[in-house]
Amino acid sequence: MKINPANFGDIDPGNRILMGPGPSDVPPRVLQAMSAPCIGHLDPYFLQVMDETQQLLRFLFQTKNPLTIPVSGTGSSGMETCLVNLVEPGDTVLVCVNGVFGTRICDIVQRIGGDLIRIDAPWGRAIDPEDVRRAIQVNRVDIVAVVHAETSTGACSPIKDISKTAHEAGALFLVDMVTSLGGMEVALDEMGIDAAFSGTQKCISCPPGLSPVSFNPKAMEKLQNRKTPVISWYLDMSMVASYWSPERKYHHTAPINMIYGLREALRIIAEEGLEQRWERHRVNHRALVAGIEAMGLSMFVPEEERLPMLNTVLIPDGADDLSVRKALLSQFGLEIGGGLGDLAGKVWRVGLMGHAARPKNVFLFLSALETILKAQGVKVNKGAALDAASSVYDSL
Ligand SMILES: *Cc1c(COP(=O)(O)O)cnc(C)c1O
Repeated sequence: MKINPANFGDIDPGNRILMGPGPSDVPPRVLQAMSAPCIGHLDPYFLQVMDETQQLLRFLFQTKNPLTIPVSGTGSSGMETCLVNLVEPGDTVLVCVNGVFGTRICDIVQRIGGDLIRIDAPWGRAIDPEDVRRAIQVNRVDIVAVVHAETSTGACSPIKDISKTAHEAGALFLVDMVTSLGGMEVALDEMGIDAAFSGTQKCISCPPGLSPVSFNPKAMEKLQNRKTPVISWYLDMSMVASYWSPERKYHHTAPINMIYGLREALRIIAEEGLEQRWERHRVNHRALVAGIEAMGLSMFVPEEERLPMLNTVLIPDGADDLSVRKALLSQFGLEIGGGLGDLAGKVWRVGLMGHAARPKNVFLFLSALETILKAQGVKVNKGAALDAASSVYDSL
C-alpha cells in the first residue's frame, strides 16, 4: 500500500483556550521541558528526574507515602491501578456514585470480581456521608471508594467525613482525585486517605498521559498480603514500586518526555504555592459564577457543593447546546464541555483548571457566551456579567 507523505501537513492545531473538563491549557514551560532530548530510562540524569518528580508529587498530595509515582497512562489507568491492586475477588467494595466517574469505578470493581455495594446520590449533588455510614452499618466493607471532584457534574464530596466513616468500619479509603489535585485542598495524610489517583491534564496543567498514584503503608500491606496475584501485569504496583525505588528493577520503560513535562508542571505549582493556587481557583470560580448569574443564567450544583475548577451552567431555554459550543470554538478559540449521560443538552461544563484559571479567561468566556446567546436570540441581561465578575476581583 502506498501513501503520499505530501498529503500530510505539519501538526498545527492553532491556538485554543481550554475551558472544558480537561485537558486544560498547558503552560509553554511544560511543553518546552517535554521537547528536551529523550535519554535512556536508566540514565543517571533520568533517575534523578524520577526521584525529583516523586518528591514534587508527595508535596502536591501532601503525603509522606514512599509509593507516590506517576503511573504510565491517563487518569483511568490510575483508577484501574488502585482497584486491581487493592481489591481481591470476593472483597466487598462500597462505591459512592454521583456521576460518570463513580460509575466507572463500579464497572472496574465488577470486572475484577469484587462484590459491589453501590450508593447513589443524584447527579449534581455531593455524596452524603450519612448514606455511607448507613451502608457500612449493615455490610462488612473492605474498601470505600469515592470521587472527590465529580467532573461530569461539578459536585464536590466531603472527603474528610467519608474518610472517618470508612476508617471506623476498618475499611481502606480510596479517592479519585483526578480533578481535585492541584486545584483545591488535597492532603492525603491529614485526610486519612489510604490510596488515591489523579491525572495530569486537569488542574496540574500537563498534557494527558500520566496518572499520579499514592499508596500509604496500610494500602501497601493490603497489597503484600494478597492471596491472589494482581490480575494486571502492567499495573501491578509491587513491581512498578520497585522500578521507582532505589532498586530500579526494570519493569517497563517510563515515558521519559512525559515525565519531564510533569516535573516542570509540578515545579510551577511549587513556585506558586498550594494555598495560593487553591485561592486562585476559588476566586476565578466566584467571578465566573457571579457573571453567569448576572447574565440571568443559573448554575446546576447548589452553592455549597460546587467545585471551583468545574462549573456546570444550566443551558438556558432557547439556546442550542451544540451550536453555542461550536461558535465558542470557531469564533473565540474557546473550548468548553457539554453534558454527559442524562445531562447531555442540559448543562455546559466550564473548566477553570490549573493554568486556565485566570481572569482573562473568565472575561473572555463571559463576553463570548453573551455575544453568542444574543445572536441566537436568547434573552440575557446585557452587559451585566462583566461588571459582576469585576466586582468579585475588586472586592479582594
Ligand atoms: C478525567 C477523569 C477521570 C479519567 O481520566 P482520563 O485521563 O480521562 O483517563 C477519572 N476521574 C475523574 C474525576 C476525571 O475527571
